[in-house]
Amino acid sequence: MNAPVLPGYWQEQGIERVLLDEATIAARVRELGEQLCNELDDGREIVLIPVLTGAIIFAADLMRAMPTRVRFSLVSVASYGAAITSQGAVRSGALPANLAGKHVVIVDEILDSGATIRLLRKEIGELNAQSLRVCVLLRKQNEKALSTPCEMVGFDIPDIFVVGYGLDYDGSFRNMPFVGVLNLASIGMGSKG
Ligand code: 5GP
Ligand code: MG
Repeated sequence: MNAPVLPGYWQEQGIERVLLDEATIAARVRELGEQLCNELDDGREIVLIPVLTGAIIFAADLMRAMPTRVRFSLVSVASYGAAITSQGAVRSGALPANLAGKHVVIVDEILDSGATIRLLRKEIGELNAQSLRVCVLLRKQNEKALSTPCEMVGFDIPDIFVVGYGLDYDGSFRNMPFVGVLNLASIGMGSKG
């Protein structure tokens, strides 16, 4: 199979290669949406809880892949600053209200150390939802990620720093429509820190 073509603009911005192209992501997001509908469409309300900021692109696409009544309720967790290593998870702002009796899906773009997902599953798990699932687009192949309970995974990927499709480096690259690998030398970092 040919490697996906890397658009010139993104190459100039320091992207080394495409890991998941747009079509591949779109097809998998459609499958995840279908799966959620099949599992949850029983007349109860479905609430997607995207984790700001990285999950917004994935959650927006996932929601549109679900032809049923779906609500959105955002939650904000910070874990990465300008660095590329996990720094633990801290929630900022309120937890979603009125989840009792509803089907709740925590939506995040990537599972790495698992700190974000563990924190949210514990906190949201106390809100009496009818069911609670975690759906991530990407899961890194490292021990912490793989040992973090997670019901739905879009793609298992190597344990490397990726950007695009909502994932940033220092605030940039969220609008890149595919998931790519940043050339660490281009941002002055030789290896994963
Ligand atoms: P965790 O709490 O599982 O360590 O990390 C979750 C959060 O860290 C993600 O939602 C994302 O914001 C950030 N993160 C983890 N790995 C990566 C990565 O490879 N690239 C980017 N841009 N962010 C990441
Ligand atoms: Mg995040």
